Amino acid sequence: MCQRALYPGSFDPVTYGHLDLIKRALLIFPELIVAVAHNTHKKPLFTVKERVAMLKRLTADLKGVIIDDFNGLVIDYARKHKIKVLIRGLRMISDFEYEFQMALTNRRLASEIETVFLMPQESYSYLSSKLLKEAASMGADLSSFVPPFIEKALKKKLFRP
Ligand code: ADP
Repeated sequence: MCQRALYPGSFDPVTYGHLDLIKRALLIFPELIVAVAHNTHKKPLFTVKERVAMLKRLTADLKGVIIDDFNGLVIDYARKHKIKVLIRGLRMISDFEYEFQMALTNRRLASEIETVFLMPQESYSYLSSKLLKEAASMGADLSSFVPPFIEKALKKKLFRP
């Protein structure tokens, strides 16, 4: 029985969609490491330090969650921490191709590690950090997607009224 799972991602910033997935993963695994990637091809808006701090604040009352960050390959981090399960999210069919490729590449590189896909609550199934940033830059109300402290941080960086 696997005790620990790893949820890697950019989390730029973390949203209620990510949080929904974290809670679902905790129903299956007693311990979940949520790890913020340093080397993402997407140009991040928030620093790794900021993203880690947001995740820590948002998951403060969840038992079994550890927030960390990592450089390099996800599978190297997983092996180092003796983790055999990766958690990823599937929202729309559009996620499928990228996630499928990544899961199979990771399996080729580390056959002992499985990727488990979870689906969020329907109301978060169209929510992405990218879309959120666009909406923030136009001053939209983000209260149903992120907590107030993240909405404030987004608008501070992006919204010029
Ligand atoms: P990455 O750059 O690794 O794709 P993201 O932070 O965008 O990082 O996403 C991390 C994982 O969380 C991905 O598997 C993504 O599909 C999933 N995810 C992102 N937003 C949501 C959401 N609203 N609901 C469910 N899963 C999500």
